[in-house]
Amino acid sequence: MKWLGLLYLFLSVSLQFGGVSSKNQGHEDSAATRTIKKELGDPPEVHCSRERSKAAWKIIQEYLMPFVEKEQYQISRTCKLHPHNDLYRDQEEHKIQVDLNEWQCGYCKKRFYDDIFLDKHFDNRHYNLLNVSHTRCLADVCGALHCDLEMDSVPHKKTKCNPAAAARNRHLCEGLADSCFPVKQGPAASRLHEFFLRQFCDAHTCTGRQKPFSQGRRKKRASISYLVISILTLALLFLFYSYIYMYSRGVKRGTQELKRVTPIGRKKKPS
Ligand SMILES: [Zn+2]
Repeated sequence: MKWLGLLYLFLSVSLQFGGVSSKNQGHEDSAATRTIKKELGDPPEVHCSRERSKAAWKIIQEYLMPFVEKEQYQISRTCKLHPHNDLYRDQEEHKIQVDLNEWQCGYCKKRFYDDIFLDKHFDNRHYNLLNVSHTRCLADVCGALHCDLEMDSVPHKKTKCNPAAAARNRHLCEGLADSCFPVKQGPAASRLHEFFLRQFCDAHTCTGRQKPFSQGRRKKRASISYLVISILTLALLFLFYSYIYMYSRGVKRGTQELKRVTPIGRKKKPS
């Protein structure tokens, strides 16, 4: 019993020490961050949604750039869709996906389980890298590009369409078409101008007749491998069934031969 008492005493003391030391560590940590913050200055208020910027970037990459590249057209820096206008572009390009559940910060090499934690890390540790002096934010074009569609993984119930908001978004959308693809610049710009109106702007109405992204999207590279896999699977299935067919035919022929044999056998029995 004395032994147990001593063990308990030892454990409780060591636990207390552990608790104190971890508390101290937390204190030191916060002190350290404070000094860093002092050195860097307080994080500037960023009035640009990272999430919406990401959604806009994805839409541009998927529903616009394949067509722009096809026309070999160069978007100018004055166009709000130019990568230069994305405040978070540099940070996004410093995301390294090591594994399915492993992300690395390209600035300081720290690793995270999820992309979301890496975003938080950028906000807390590398906010000084955001150049907020220019008024640039890709999320600003979200109204025109239907970002809500990209952000909702589950399409919510239809909310009542607001005609004023739809008109505003349409105006923003047409402005983008004019500034990014000026018709005067030539046939390629002219074609892309027309494409942009059909792809993004037509759907900004309350009639519900026009769907956004009506002109299609980037064809996924994965589709080729899917095609190969499905063809292989079909070929294997064909081989499998033809084998079964041949086998069953073989068995049938066998039983027929047996049937032919058995009546003679039966006839022989009574005699
Ligand atoms: Zn970092």
